Amino acid sequence: MKIAIIGAGLSGITAARTLSDKLEAKAAITVFEKSRGAGGRMSTRRTDDFEFDHGAQYFTAKDTAFKAAVDMGTKQGHIAPWHGIAKYLKDGTLQNDTGGARYVSAPRMNSWIKAMTEGLDVKTSARVSGLLKTGTGWTLDFEDGAKETGFDALVCAVPAPQAEALLEPLSFAQLSAIKATKMDVCFALMLGFHAPLSLPWDTLRSIDGPASWIAANSAKPGRPSGGTALMVHSGPQWSNANVDRDKAELQAEMIDAASALTGLDLSKADYTTTHRWLYAAVSQGAGQPCLSDKAQNVVVCGDWCLGGRVEGAWLSGKAAAEHVISWAAQA
Ligand SMILES: Cc1cc2nc3c(=O)[nH]c(=O)nc-3n(C[C@H](O)[C@H](O)[C@H](O)COP(=O)(O)OP(=O)(O)OC[C@H]3O[C@@H](n4cnc5c(N)ncnc54)[C@H](O)[C@@H]3O)c2cc1C
Repeated sequence: MKIAIIGAGLSGITAARTLSDKLEAKAAITVFEKSRGAGGRMSTRRTDDFEFDHGAQYFTAKDTAFKAAVDMGTKQGHIAPWHGIAKYLKDGTLQNDTGGARYVSAPRMNSWIKAMTEGLDVKTSARVSGLLKTGTGWTLDFEDGAKETGFDALVCAVPAPQAEALLEPLSFAQLSAIKATKMDVCFALMLGFHAPLSLPWDTLRSIDGPASWIAANSAKPGRPSGGTALMVHSGPQWSNANVDRDKAELQAEMIDAASALTGLDLSKADYTTTHRWLYAAVSQGAGQPCLSDKAQNVVVCGDWCLGGRVEGAWLSGKAAAEHVISWAAQA
């Protein structure tokens, strides 16, 4: 069975890993990823002096199978618990931000995914622009004009709006479930300081606005020490409302808001940049582990199927792999 997986984020790589481990020589699996490397929204921006996990900040593990995978990743040295000081700002006072144990991939947010890709065929800088079913199976068209053909099954592991664009022309059976989901924008402001900042917390949650989350990335386990790499995220409502705003103006507003929250003049950072995530978080999920169309041998997965977050992406990728395994058993 020849299987194509579109997207090398956690859901796509979890699907690929599961299929490869379970089907072994019975399947030839190729992952196609538009970026230069695997990781998706679990990614790290590196400069000469600083590193920022500018997507996912940390993750929790509630599901038993996911917790077992996290424990295994921890044993293998790709994941570490993060015992940072977590606060949130309520009515002007700092409170403890309680919740389940926090984990991060280490030494970077994409390290766990990269470790999972070992032995897998992952083609990067390969943006799928179209899908076509012919007598010999699925053909993938790429943005640069290339084609890959002869796939028996497809796993589409990209954010919902990108899945919709690829699958609408195929009349995918569960298209309406994809269309019903909603993903939010997030701006990620990265501030690097050569001299360490003195902060009374490692993470600070605040209300929706230009700075609704601040984290000292450099305080995570395995990160370079010395200075401070500060990560600021805008909240979903504010981000959606400001999606097309001038970047310099927006960045200045985020710096002002984060300065007010920290009581420090963050405009003096040695390194400053802002990244826009168009599909960052999920405000309306599909409410199913994955969406499949058995008649076409296509399954769609991603964090948005299960309401977002790292744990949801992993569970969704697993569920998608199980669908393909059941098709392989019937073939
Ligand atoms: C700013 C931010 C903060 C977050 N914070 C947290 C957090 O603290 N805790 C938490 O649990 N989660 C958090 N998340 C969410 C978490 O990152 C995601 O739930 C998870 O990484 C999603 O994985 P995925 O595989 O579903 O999707 P993605 O990681 O988005 O992977 C999809 C991949 O598909 C690729 N792709 C898209 N279209 C194509 C195409 N046409 N051809 C080829 N490749 C394509 C993309 O480049 C990407 O690599 C955060 C996300 C962001 C952006």
